[in-house]
Amino acid sequence: MNTVTTVPTREADVAFDCPGNYRAATPSTLRCAKCDRPLAVKDAQRTPTGYVCPYYVKARVATFYTAGPRHYLLAALIAFGLGVGIGLVLQLVGRIGFFALLLTIFVGPAAGSLIAEAIRRANGKERGQYIWLVAAIATVIGAAYFTVLPALVALLVGSPGFIFALIPIVGLVLTVGTLIARLKL
Ligand SMILES: [Zn+2]
Repeated sequence: MNTVTTVPTREADVAFDCPGNYRAATPSTLRCAKCDRPLAVKDAQRTPTGYVCPYYVKARVATFYTAGPRHYLLAALIAFGLGVGIGLVLQLVGRIGFFALLLTIFVGPAAGSLIAEAIRRANGKERGQYIWLVAAIATVIGAAYFTVLPALVALLVGSPGFIFALIPIVGLVLTVGTLIARLKL
C-alpha cells in the first residue's frame, strides 16, 4: 500500500473536499493534497502545498473571484470618469513645454494608482478576474478625447507639434500600465 506520508500544512487545506469527484484514469500512488483522492500524474497540478487534482484549482478560482456584473460596471464607470479627468490633466501637462515629459513620467503612474485604488475601495473585497481589463479599456476610452484625439489631429494636419502631442499618450500608457499592475496584484 501507499506508505508515503504527507505532512498536513494547514488543517483547512486538508479538510477541503474538491468538488467534481475527481477519479484518476489509471491507478496511482499519488494523492491530491486537498481531497486525498488518488491522482494521476498527468492530471496533477503543482501548488505550494503539494500536488492537487484539477477540480481543486477550478474551485479555488471560483471562490477567489466573487465579483458580479455590478462590480464590473462600477469599475468601468470609475475608470471612465477618472480617465476623462486624467486625460485632461495629461493634456495640460503636455502643454507646459520643456518639463512636460518629465512631469508626465510622474503623473502617469500616479494616475494609474489613483484609479486602481478607487476601484478597490468601491468594490471592497470582491475580486474579478477581468476587472483589470475592463478598467484599462474604460480608462483609455475616457482619456482618449484629451490624449489620443489631439495627437491624431496633429498627425493628420501635419502639425510640427505632433511629437509633443505624443506626450499625453506616453502618460496614458504609463497610467494604464500602472493600473493593470495594481489591479492584478
Ligand atoms: Zn482534490
